[in-house]
Amino acid sequence: MHVLLIEDDEAVASKLARELQRVDHRTTWRDTVQAGLIALRQARPELVLLDLGLPDGTGFGFIERARRESDVPIIVLSARVDGADKVRALELGADDYVTKPFWTDEVLARMGAVVRRHQAVPGPGVMYRFDDVVVDLTAMTAVVGAAPGQLTPSEFDLLAYLVRHPDEALSLERLSDRVLASDDAGPDALRIHVSRLRKKLGAAGARIETVWGVGYRFVSGAAS
Ligand code: CA
Repeated sequence: MHVLLIEDDEAVASKLARELQRVDHRTTWRDTVQAGLIALRQARPELVLLDLGLPDGTGFGFIERARRESDVPIIVLSARVDGADKVRALELGADDYVTKPFWTDEVLARMGAVVRRHQAVPGPGVMYRFDDVVVDLTAMTAVVGAAPGQLTPSEFDLLAYLVRHPDEALSLERLSDRVLASDDAGPDALRIHVSRLRKKLGAAGARIETVWGVGYRFVSGAAS
């Protein structure tokens, strides 16, 4: 299995990576939230092992952002024994929570359990097709016509959020809040992203309807 390990303690990371390697798991190691998010998109891991205290933010932020676009299994590895942290991580969408220090065997057992559970339950539509646009939430790609859609990360996040909430009127605030990075948030920025996204989607762009006084709605129509 290909595992994305997000951990800033090099000693913990290298020991774990070595032990995962011994049982034939491949590890991509990153030590910040940002680098972790990029690796999630580019390396397409089958499972994420996530520390909570990271130099540029918390694992909670990672989970929140990752869940907008991916249903990859996430197991938190943390020294925080506070029940509230565990509840928060699980509520945000983590699949399991292991307290440090841990035995690698325990982590491996939980990885196996989480992946089995994940495979048994088909996730909420991972691939969306509408008109000549295909959005793959697992691969995090959008194909427009025959070519890869040249979407920015914000545009992809926006599209992913829209297709996951089809036919729902979504307020500007909610979209801005859930989709845009905090330094790029707000209704005006959102309107600009929507207008660019509509253009890039060609005919399918018309599916992003304006809901006057509210925000936008993605019309699913005959999407399968
Ligand atoms: Ca840490």
